[in-house]
Amino acid sequence: MKFQTIRGVHDGLPAVVARWQQVERVARTIFHSHSFDEVRLPILEQTALFTRSVGEATDIVAKEMYRFVDRGGDDLCLRPEGTAGAVRAFIQGGLGRAGEQRWFYVGPMFRRERPQKGRLRQFQQIGVERFGAAGPVADIEMLTMAWSLVAELGIQQVRLELNSLGCPSCRPGYRDALVAFLQQCEGDLCATCRDRMATNPMRVLDCKVASCQQALTDAPEMLHHLCGDCDTHFGAIQRGLDIPVTINPRIVRGLDYYNRTAFEIVTDQLGAQGTVIAGGRYDGLVQELGGAATPAIGFALGLERIGLLLSDPPATRAEVAVVALGEGALIPSLRAAEQLRAAGLRTIHCGGGGGKRQFKQADRCGARFTIILGEDEVAQGTWTVRNMGEGSQQQCDPASAMAQLVQHFATTRTSKE
Ligand code: ATP
Ligand code: MG
Repeated sequence: MKFQTIRGVHDGLPAVVARWQQVERVARTIFHSHSFDEVRLPILEQTALFTRSVGEATDIVAKEMYRFVDRGGDDLCLRPEGTAGAVRAFIQGGLGRAGEQRWFYVGPMFRRERPQKGRLRQFQQIGVERFGAAGPVADIEMLTMAWSLVAELGIQQVRLELNSLGCPSCRPGYRDALVAFLQQCEGDLCATCRDRMATNPMRVLDCKVASCQQALTDAPEMLHHLCGDCDTHFGAIQRGLDIPVTINPRIVRGLDYYNRTAFEIVTDQLGAQGTVIAGGRYDGLVQELGGAATPAIGFALGLERIGLLLSDPPATRAEVAVVALGEGALIPSLRAAEQLRAAGLRTIHCGGGGGKRQFKQADRCGARFTIILGEDEVAQGTWTVRNMGEGSQQQCDPASAMAQLVQHFATTRTSKE
């Protein structure tokens, strides 16, 4: 029997993981410079956490969760997103009184979606959550941080799309206006949207079906129904941003907890899966889940999806290989490999045995230098250092060989390695 990964689930083999690490490295540097700290949160959570926060009528909760009852009878989920768990942890950790919290996390999320390019059933997100900042300055910083991440990764042809979803005082009025409009064009909407009219009418706005988008051309927009406070907030963000922004009144986000700011960083290079970063404000969620009223804002990016936009980073290769010629050289050669690693050099030991096979391995692993230990070297307490590029070699004492190698790689390594 041959085993395979299940549909929509991918292995992270070394070349792919190198891309993810490239994103993570840039993200960590940027988050660090904004004073965000890493949290590591559970993958398993109670199902009720998501039904309560993400919302019963959303696609995620209604159709996409990996939900099961465990052997003890608990109703659990593999987390479909990170914000709900972060809010739970914020409340459970009693951090509401500890001042503003700035968090980030990296980890797998699970959604039973239709697998396609850039859309998986197990995927990884890098997420950021900031608790305790209400004013538009926090939004401006958040949007700018997301933008610098994409810029720093060298991803071209992206745009920042922004909308406001209003708040509990202005959204109900808009919702009524939207439902009235949708009722008039009900016949032109797809079956899913006709269902959404009753359960989650704003979600109709971002339906991907072309005929629905056409029917919505004259749909009322939230931006024309904002209350004074929401309008002021939205205006301040636009004035404060030093990034070109596209106002997109169709961004609604697929989760119920967002209010005011909703944004996406979008590319046209990935077909329908063009959203690489998505986020917004969720000022009511901490209270909704049992904590004290705490404004909050965050975003998440899909590692696999953003990875599709990157060129391959150079493969990591060994720097030094160690070859042992003859039984007596084996143990000393293992010690030599340890010394090289302790000096910070990426080293492989070729395993001893036949010389031909070992030199072939040294060649294949990309090592720039090979340390050769035979009877002679062991007797004299020396190493033979072969420069693989030039084919030259010299026998020298281990301390000076190490010093030369360390010096060589300190000057040739790129900062990304
Ligand atoms: P989309 O509109 O693409 O379905 P979403 O609104 O469901 O995205 P969020 O829940 O906000 O997205 O997730 C944030 C980011 O996580 C997305 O912008 C995307 O990069 C990534 N993402 C979401 N779902 C998937 C998935 N099934 N496979 C891979 N990446 C995903
Ligand atoms: Mg989705």
